[in-house]
Amino acid sequence: MSQIRHALTVKREDDFAKWYQEVISAADLAEESGVRGCMVIKPWGYGIWERIQRLMDDRIKAAGVQNCYFPLFIPLSNFTREAEHVEGFAKEMAVVTHHRLISDGKGGLIPDPAAKLEEPLVVRPTSETIIGDAMARWVQSWRDLPLLTNQWANVVRWEMRTRMFLRTSEFLWQEGHTAHENREQALAETHRALEMYRACAEDDLALPVIAGEKPENERFPGAVETWSIEAMMQDGKALQAGTSHYLGTNFAHAAGIQYQDREGSQQFSHTTSWGVSTRLIGGVIMTHGDDDGLRVPPAIAPQQIVIIPMLREAPEDAELIAYCEQVRAALAGQTALGERIRVLLDVKPGKAAAKRWDWVRKGAPVIIEVGPRDMADGKLAFLRRDQLWNTANGKPAFTYPAHADFVAEAGAVLEAIQSSLYEEARARRDANITRGVTEWQAVADHFDKGGKYPGWVEVEWSKPTGDVLEQVVEKLKALKLTIRNVPRGGKAATGTCIFTGAPATERILVARAY
Ligand code: AMP
Repeated sequence: MSQIRHALTVKREDDFAKWYQEVISAADLAEESGVRGCMVIKPWGYGIWERIQRLMDDRIKAAGVQNCYFPLFIPLSNFTREAEHVEGFAKEMAVVTHHRLISDGKGGLIPDPAAKLEEPLVVRPTSETIIGDAMARWVQSWRDLPLLTNQWANVVRWEMRTRMFLRTSEFLWQEGHTAHENREQALAETHRALEMYRACAEDDLALPVIAGEKPENERFPGAVETWSIEAMMQDGKALQAGTSHYLGTNFAHAAGIQYQDREGSQQFSHTTSWGVSTRLIGGVIMTHGDDDGLRVPPAIAPQQIVIIPMLREAPEDAELIAYCEQVRAALAGQTALGERIRVLLDVKPGKAAAKRWDWVRKGAPVIIEVGPRDMADGKLAFLRRDQLWNTANGKPAFTYPAHADFVAEAGAVLEAIQSSLYEEARARRDANITRGVTEWQAVADHFDKGGKYPGWVEVEWSKPTGDVLEQVVEKLKALKLTIRNVPRGGKAATGTCIFTGAPATERILVARAY
């Protein structure tokens, strides 16, 4: 078997964190900015985000939720109305205190003491409190409910440990905010959003996820219930890929969201909120990336097929480009995954092989190369990014169909790539969840000695609260572990709590996480 020369310098198994950074730069997704924890998202990275936005937005609108836009600045006093909420976010809020700068006399600028704001403004870390104000105005009667809103925006949380896409100080997201007549309807919406996230993650991003409820200590500040989807990265760590919260009447009390019910009495609304962010792109990288760079699932690839003509900087190039343009137009008329195929003819100057490796690193699902001989034969050469190498000879695994045959099959090829990426990730995830562990020592051993990537462990517990829960959390923390969630629709517990020895009530997933 020949040696494969991979397109990245760092391999996943040698240094997963460094590999992740290399993928981000090699795939030209994003770069660090001068501001700690804030990134510049480049066209290929932003194109992936736009695809995720588009597919998620379609799902959001299909559920009858309408987009709105609320201010970036939230008066500080809005936060103090909900005690848990402010406590949860206080340590990571960026605050605007002045509205003018003046010279410091040394060539610099300082905030003008005369331009101090009467009330500081918080740069939104999340918008429950300001949307709550609007809901209090918009909701008067039971006829105004349910009120289903969403906004696409940026938010700021002053995170101490940041990593591009996964955890940034400023991130892009959508936040759904809904108000309902009662608990039952708000819970139904909480679950609808969770299920929407599961479907989007699995069907669009090819990320297998486990949907479930977060334990009390991991709840969103101010929430009554927090539900999440959890994805497993290739190093076995968990990534919380999205959350959906049932907020009870906490925020309704804080903002005064009251309505007259069918009997004419005043009631507080039950509200929900739910969000996914640019973190999803980090999840896609860590799930589908390989030692040659990123592999973008076709559903979210800005370009699904890239055509590279083998140009010679000679007069014959014009004919080759015309042939490639014909192939491009024919492909653009085809569909895959329910949409027109997105295909790019890359006529930028440069050697075809160098351009090929750029697109391999970016993770375009299909790369086509066409030389004069292919043109003469009415053929083309293509590479599937998910089946890049011919392992027998260590060379890229090109296939050479007649161009008309390829055009007819292109939709099916892209759909096959979408499902093979999902299946590969699902098989890896399932192989790395250890079940049936009943002793705490066995959990500790598993994470101590379970190799480099110990994955997740499922255990049974008695859902302790208060001090006992705190002790459990500390015990887990000592091993750098957290409870990910209580999987929805999981099997009932049958044994005893691994922490307390009491009869177990639930199964939980325990893991290291990003
Ligand atoms: P939350 O409002 O805390 O429930 O957050 C909603 C979602 O945003 C989470 O499930 C994460 O996927 C994502 N998220 C939270 N914090 C960050 C961050 N610092 N950077 C990127 N994404 C984040």
